[in-house]
Amino acid sequence: MLVLDGKIAAASVKEDLLSQTDALLKAGKPAPHLAAILVGNNGASETYVASKVKNCEETGFQSSLVRLDENVEEAVLLAAIEKLNNDPGVDGILVQLPLPKHISEQKVIEAINPAKDVDGFHPSNIGKLVQGLPTFIPATPYGILLMLEHFKIDTKGKHAVVIGRSNIVGRPMSILLSSNIAQGNCTVTLCHSHTHNLKEICLQADILVAALGKPEFVLPEMVKEGAVVVDVGITRVTDPTAKKGFRIKGDVQYHSVAPKCSAITPVPGGVGLMTIAGLLKNTMLAYRNNRDN
Ligand code: NAD
Repeated sequence: MLVLDGKIAAASVKEDLLSQTDALLKAGKPAPHLAAILVGNNGASETYVASKVKNCEETGFQSSLVRLDENVEEAVLLAAIEKLNNDPGVDGILVQLPLPKHISEQKVIEAINPAKDVDGFHPSNIGKLVQGLPTFIPATPYGILLMLEHFKIDTKGKHAVVIGRSNIVGRPMSILLSSNIAQGNCTVTLCHSHTHNLKEICLQADILVAALGKPEFVLPEMVKEGAVVVDVGITRVTDPTAKKGFRIKGDVQYHSVAPKCSAITPVPGGVGLMTIAGLLKNTMLAYRNNRDN
C-alpha cells in the first residue's frame, strides 16, 4: 500500500515554483503576489490562512493579508475585494471561506476579478472548466490532480466515485476526473446525501474520493480491494487528550481502510497540503497571464 504523502508531492510542486520565482527575480521582475482576505477569527480559517502565507514565503511569493472584523458589512468586504481587483501588483485574491452568515458567499465569489480568482470559484472559471478551457482549477481538486500526477496514479478508464457534490470540491473533482486530461478519462459516479446504495457504489470504485465532511465515514466494507482512496475531509473532533483539545479527522477511517488500498492519502498530511500547492500554482498562472509580458 502506497501512502500518497502530501508533504512529498507538495514539496516537489513548491520546489518548481521557487525556481520559477528565482528566475523572475534574477530577471528584475517582481515575485507573484497572493492577497488573502480573512473575515473574523475562526480558528480553522486562521490556521489555513497562516499556512497559505507561510507557503507563499517558501516559494518566494509576496503575500498580504487583509483582516476584517466578524461583523464587517458586506459592502466593506466587497470594497476590499475591488481594491485588490484594481491593484496591478496583486496577482491572486482569495477570500477565506466560510464567511459570517450575514454575508453572501456567492456575491463575494462573483466580486473577485476572474483573472485573479486563484481559488477557481468564480462562475466564469467554473464554466471554462466544464468546457475543458484553460482556467484556474479550484485549488483542492487541482491539488488532488497534482497528487495523482506525482505518484503516477493511472486514472484512464477507471471507475471513480466521488462522495460530495460541493462547488469547491466534489463537483469540480467529478468533472475533472471525467475530462479528457492526463489525470482524467475516468467513468465517474458523483454521490451525495440523497444517493441510495452508497456502499454498493463505493465498492465499485477503482478511485474513491471522499469529500463529505463526516469524520471516518468511509469504512473498509465500502472499499474495493486495491482501490485508490483520496480523503479530502478535514474535521476538528474534540479530544481532551489532544494538546489542542481536538484532533483532525478525515472522511475515511484510515487505519482500517488503508490495508485494503493500493494507495491512500493520510489526514492530516495529504490533500490539505496539496490544496495549497494548487493555490500557489494558480497564483503563478495568474502572474504569467496578467503581468509577465
Ligand atoms: P460541503 O458540506 O459543502 O459538502 C458536503 C457534500 O457531502 C454535500 O454535497 C453532501 O450532499 C454530501 N454528503 C453529506 N453527507 C453525505 C452522506 N451521508 N452520504 C453522501 N454524501 C453526503 O463540504 P465541502 O466544502 O465539499 O467539504 C467536504 C470536506 O472536505 C469537509 O470536511 C471540509 O473541511 C474538507 N475540505 C478539505 C479541503 C482540503 O484542502 N483538504 C478543502 C476543502 C474542504
